[in-house]
Amino acid sequence: MSYFSEIYNGIKTLLTGMSVTGKYFLNARKGVITQQYPDNRETLKMFDRFRGEVIMPHDDQNEHRCTGCQKCEIACPNGTIEIIWDRGIDEETGKKKKKIDQFVYHLSLCTMCGLCIDVCPTDAIEWGQNFENSVFDRTHLTRVLNKPGSKLAPGVED
Ligand code: SF4
Ligand code: SF4
Repeated sequence: MSYFSEIYNGIKTLLTGMSVTGKYFLNARKGVITQQYPDNRETLKMFDRFRGEVIMPHDDQNEHRCTGCQKCEIACPNGTIEIIWDRGIDEETGKKKKKIDQFVYHLSLCTMCGLCIDVCPTDAIEWGQNFENSVFDRTHLTRVLNKPGSKLAPGVED
């Protein structure tokens, strides 16, 4: 008896799967299923919660919001972030102030856990939408997130 019930269950499971496939097949022309990647590169936008990579936004004046506090570096569970910092003169106060030299991000180590972004007190880093991160040389996955010549935006404190 179990022999026949197993055959019945097998056919039932097969038909269930095929009905789902059939629905998508019949609706394929409505364009709701397949993204024509990479032809749609110019217009493709990932969903808002997409975690492609950690980025550091800069404004029109080439200013960022990273104070070099290193909270993200400490929070990262696997050493993905390295903050290389120095002390410079604060233009407003004339006193010495910590500043980043390089914010190094090893994308190949990043698990996209988001702890660094959560812990940042100044919202200096966020998720980027880029997902085309295949490279032939893995050293290209190590990036400096602060742009050359950039500096801390005025008024940003820890
Ligand atoms: S990104 Fe945020 S948490 Fe990390 S060093 Fe800069 S200010 Fe601090
Ligand atoms: S997302 Fe997670 S693993 Fe990636 S740099 Fe931030 S804390 Fe580290």
